[in-house]
Amino acid sequence: MHLKKRVLVTGGAGFLGSHLCERLLERDCDVICLDNYFTGSKQNVLHLLDNPHFELLRHDVTFPLYVEVDEIYNLACPASPIHYQHDPVQTTKTSVHGAINMLGLAKRLRAKIMQASTSEVYGDPSVHPQPESYWGNVNTIGFRSCYDEGKRCAETLFFDYRRQHNLRIKVARIFNTYGPRMHPNDGRVVSNFIIQALRGEPLTVYGQGQQTRSFCYVDDLIEAFLRLMETPDDFTGPVNTGNPGEFTILELAQMVIEYTGSKSVIDYRPLPQDDPKQRRPDITLAKAKLDWEPKVPLTEGLKKTIEYFDAFLRGK
Ligand code: NAD
Ligand code: UDP
Ligand code: UDP
Repeated sequence: MHLKKRVLVTGGAGFLGSHLCERLLERDCDVICLDNYFTGSKQNVLHLLDNPHFELLRHDVTFPLYVEVDEIYNLACPASPIHYQHDPVQTTKTSVHGAINMLGLAKRLRAKIMQASTSEVYGDPSVHPQPESYWGNVNTIGFRSCYDEGKRCAETLFFDYRRQHNLRIKVARIFNTYGPRMHPNDGRVVSNFIIQALRGEPLTVYGQGQQTRSFCYVDDLIEAFLRLMETPDDFTGPVNTGNPGEFTILELAQMVIEYTGSKSVIDYRPLPQDDPKQRRPDITLAKAKLDWEPKVPLTEGLKKTIEYFDAFLRGK
């Protein structure tokens, strides 16, 4: 007989997954952290390995998995363009076959399952900010499509498993999130700028830096995941989770230069293909259903992330 809630986190050795595992252990859960270490690392969860309620499993979600759990958070998927474009076919497989396997697992166990979806399902949006009811503007054949369409198909699978098999599903559409344990080399704007500034190198702003993004601090996002999982069974989402504060990339570069006290200059580079011009979540639904909104402002979150990378670059 088990007393604790048993939770599976796929992609648990990644950036978001490792924070989620930590928070679940604090909440007295038994945690199985599954990862194939494509973009995540053991390093991210090393501090949890001594905990008897934590178990690390090397596994690829594109293959079937037989474990016994009560809840599943499906986060496995490379999240940054350089990683998901490295092997685009594997990216689609991870989203689609991964979702099928985890849904099959949830179906057998009658477990509750949450999908880490993405604001990328909105593509290059023609509606701004994006409510969940917006269907998106997505290129099916571009470089980002393996990720965007893979995630869209995963959402479809989640809703079809609910309709066909009455599964308890939750879908979070995550907007850009940042914080400690982001990958140093994954080309994401926050980590790039912070590392460049700490090294005194020029900050690479793509295009004129007038495209916008909204950045959510990791602790806020994990709180939204936990609340979403606890919502009544008739609430499935999709629900936007992100910070509605919107900044241009140039503003972000200037903030990073200021907070690091760096002498770095700005180096304008060509804008990548299909780069969305603007993105900001409409979080009305999350506020109403999860009683949640982000609490950590960009100024504060950036400072914590700068501290992390400063220690990281010094070898801790
Ligand atoms: P991440 O790359 O740090 O984490 C993903 C993890 O999944 C990694 O540990 C990786 O090794 C693992 N993984 C990849 N393919 C796998 C496979 N086939 N089998 C098992 N494990 C596999 O990225 P993250 O930022 O922590 O993202 C986590 C989830 O959240 C992803 O699904 C991502 O699409 C989604 N998301 C993240 C953001 C963000 O801003 N960080 C935004 C939107 C959506
Ligand atoms: N699956 C799994 N673990 C389980 C149950 C199923 O990995 O505990 C996989 C299984 O390999 C299958 C997929 O999930 O390919 C979908 O399962 P489902 O029961 O929906 O479909 P079916 O087995 O009927 O194809
Ligand atoms: N970006 C940038 N310089 C960089 C990395 C990214 O100007 O060194 C821009 C990028 O073109 C995009 C934004 O910052 O407009 C966010 O990029 P990221 O890859 O972090 O996330 P996504 O495009 O998936 O939102």
